[in-house]
Amino acid sequence: MTKRQIVHIDDELCNGCGRCVTPCAEQAIELADGKARVMREELCDGAGFCLAVCPTGALTIEEREAPDFSEEAVHRHRLEQMIKENAAKKAKAATLHCELCGRSENDAPLIAVRDQGTSRWVCVKCLPALIHG
Ligand code: SF4
Repeated sequence: MTKRQIVHIDDELCNGCGRCVTPCAEQAIELADGKARVMREELCDGAGFCLAVCPTGALTIEEREAPDFSEEAVHRHRLEQMIKENAAKKAKAATLHCELCGRSENDAPLIAVRDQGTSRWVCVKCLPALIHG
């Protein structure tokens, strides 16, 4: 712990718009329960690039006791975020969708059907229309 500059978020002023998330190169700010949060203080270097984009003035720089800023923690955090994002992309890509209405297999059961010589995934809600026209 060192006395240093770090971002302070005023919960009363924060409207959860999320504009401050992207300018933070260290990915220290995330939205949780509709409010911006410095998720881990060692990720915030106190540079304050997020301040300029906040429409409500919720962000300020304060000087107080906080864990030291850590480049290593930032590096690890970025890798964890990349792994999470890639896993989410893979899960999304692996989800089947109804080729007629676009519903995912999470929304309605899908059935593989042969239609005019082509195999396609169709949900049970669209199947009657495909069969009966
Ligand atoms: S930009 Fe400001 S109002 Fe928007 S989420 Fe961040 S702190 Fe909250």
